[in-house]
Amino acid sequence: MWRGIIAEYSRYLPVTKDTPIITLQEGNTPLIPIGEAIGLDFPVYAKYEGLNPTGSFKDRGMTMAVSKAMEEGVNAVICASTGNTSASAAAYAAKAGLPCFVLIPEGATAVGKLSQALIHGAKVIAVKGNFDAALRIVRDLATQKGITLVNSLNPYRIEGQKTAAFEICDQLGHVPSHLCIPVGNAGNITAYWQGFQEYLNAGISNSLPVMLGFQAEGAAPIVYNRPIEKPETVATAIRIGNPASWEKALAARDESKGSILAITDEEILAAYRLLASKAGLFCEPASAASVAGLIEMNSSGYFQGKHNVSVVCILTGHGLKDPDNAFEQAPEVITAPPDYAVIQEIVMEG
Ligand SMILES: *Cc1c(COP(=O)(O)O)cnc(C)c1O
Repeated sequence: MWRGIIAEYSRYLPVTKDTPIITLQEGNTPLIPIGEAIGLDFPVYAKYEGLNPTGSFKDRGMTMAVSKAMEEGVNAVICASTGNTSASAAAYAAKAGLPCFVLIPEGATAVGKLSQALIHGAKVIAVKGNFDAALRIVRDLATQKGITLVNSLNPYRIEGQKTAAFEICDQLGHVPSHLCIPVGNAGNITAYWQGFQEYLNAGISNSLPVMLGFQAEGAAPIVYNRPIEKPETVATAIRIGNPASWEKALAARDESKGSILAITDEEILAAYRLLASKAGLFCEPASAASVAGLIEMNSSGYFQGKHNVSVVCILTGHGLKDPDNAFEQAPEVITAPPDYAVIQEIVMEG
């Protein structure tokens, strides 16, 4: 039985036998071939992180952050969140029996994520401001004794999240040539790069992937090399104007000879619909940025003449997190009377 990422990868994590492990059996998410479905003629896999217990990769970091908080004997956890961090923090805090406080940007959090934070018992505070403003406040608050910050500034978050890189190597049997990943606060690209490096240094793997990060055009501070005051994008999970792990994302980009590029909301939504309708994979818009970016780079000829290409795209969160967006992007429901002939006609038309 899979025991969760801490028990499975403990030798790579800062835990001891005295660390109380708070787990929901996160990790062990599938690597699904999608190359053909998205029209590419080389191997492409989706790491479907939406299948984690709360529906996003945040669970990998949260099991570490909350376990270490328990080990340190804290009284509460706190975070600022575009949604998934709060959903995950609330669930792991519930499991641990710890109070949880979350600050979200008012009106900018997908309904699925908000419902999770609430039902798990977190105190949710909606701030009339954006994510970056909320993060500034919780950073200051968390210096108070007994309150632990569980944003990705918490180093244990990155430690837990790096296990996804281990899993990819273990599942694939080799290191992918390229990793495509959405970039918001930039903790995850940092974590993956660290994970791939650690597996190499431990002698488990023998190469490193090229890191290709993608930001939404209206929220692309790293691409444009300046903080964005009012980030805007349909991909709310990466609607971040001043990433906390900015420098580390640059290091991952440069050390891997990769790039961090901007893609439009239209491209993100096209990939979102393509994944759902052709690959059978429902992810949230931010996640589709990885696939949109891959498609864009392939069109621009980036992969031409490259040998042994195998790409992994990180689908960071589940589509059910943001059902409103799905309704906007999908065809309408057909209404009909309970009449055999009418319905037969609709079905025959295809
Ligand atoms: C948090 C999140 C991201 C962004 O990850 P960062 O570590 O902030 O770069 C992308 N997609 C989803 C679904 C997320 O929840």
